[in-house]
Amino acid sequence: MEFEPVIGLEVHAQLKTKTKIFCGCSTSFGAPPNTHVCPVCLGMPGVLPVLNKKVVEYTIRMALATSCKIAGESRWARKNYFYPDLPKGYQISQYELPIAEFGHIDIKAGEKSKRIGITRIHMEEDAGKLIHDPGRPVSRVDLNRTGVPLMEIVSEPDMRTPEEAGEYLRSLRSIVRYLGICDGNMEEGSFRCDANVSIRPKGTIPFGTRAEIKNLNSFKNVEKALYYEIGRQKELIMEGGNVVQETRLWNPEKNRTGAMRGKEEAHDYRYFPDPDLLPLVVDEKWVADVKKALPELPAAKQARFIKDYKLPGEDAARLTSSRALADYFESCLTHFPSPKPVSNWIPGQRQQRHRGDCCKNPGTLPGRGRRLSKR
Ligand code: ADP
Ligand code: MG
Ligand code: ZN
Repeated sequence: MEFEPVIGLEVHAQLKTKTKIFCGCSTSFGAPPNTHVCPVCLGMPGVLPVLNKKVVEYTIRMALATSCKIAGESRWARKNYFYPDLPKGYQISQYELPIAEFGHIDIKAGEKSKRIGITRIHMEEDAGKLIHDPGRPVSRVDLNRTGVPLMEIVSEPDMRTPEEAGEYLRSLRSIVRYLGICDGNMEEGSFRCDANVSIRPKGTIPFGTRAEIKNLNSFKNVEKALYYEIGRQKELIMEGGNVVQETRLWNPEKNRTGAMRGKEEAHDYRYFPDPDLLPLVVDEKWVADVKKALPELPAAKQARFIKDYKLPGEDAARLTSSRALADYFESCLTHFPSPKPVSNWIPGQRQQRHRGDCCKNPGTLPGRGRRLSKR
């Protein structure tokens, strides 16, 4: 029997605001444990959260960039669970009424483009961090991250291959970076992804039971984990078994997923509207102002490079992989207005390392400096 995978991704993007979502504590990374905390983010009794307006503005940027419908009024909810890194015993999130829904982005799928639906985008606070002592049965708690703003982007189950999932993630990351709202670093955890995957016999309509995979801290791991999990589900079904709905952890050393826990359901969290926070009202004027200030996005820039500079699609994709690289290309053009040769001189972002050679030896270009100067 031939099976078709069905994939939907949940992405948590850490928003690059100076302060936390409901208090004035710093969000900067790497401070000594428990130094960026206050009664609000420590969940002390008798304190009240105050919403950081920047968090909302950044989320509106993302909602506009992904063609979402922005809710004039959305609501904060408490998601209740116990864990030592969550001092309040609940996480403030959005549930029934998120700030944005019904969006989409277009990704590259082979030669064609494919539209992936965005179910919803909502804001929430991050939890703290547990540090497990490898030598002793001791865990420590660092609450600096508690209350750091996150934006969760939930996709429709529209992807059909691990490559499409990778492409979707890369596109999302490129958008948040262009918007300047998240640094998009998967390895450091500022851009995290949980992957939901099921399989169904090819040609049938109902979805199969999904597994949710966590602990995916690189693009490569997302694709590898999906491959593994699709294979595991196929084997299971071919042997007459059933996929159970559960959360599985990717193990990058063993290159496999392992069962972590039964999948929790919404009712397990006893969501209810947070009585400490008013419903969030976003007026049209604010949305219009944010829209006016949006930068040119990767897809539009790519199309413009193809049209205006007569560049091949591949060149345009490479040059627009980051805003900095695209700006660099265009500023080169002001000195040397020949798009294709300039494009040929500029390597892709991954290889690009500014070693300073180009500044010391004018005439060489970043990343190529070493090779050109034959040292
Ligand atoms: P939860 O918090 O329970 O994981 P969400 O609604 O936040 O629920 O996320 C569900 C994710 O799983 C979405 O990205 C959705 O597209 C995806 N999904 C839902 N059903 C399936 C399925 N049968 N197979 C694969 N992915 C699915
Ligand atoms: Mg989930
Ligand atoms: Zn605080």
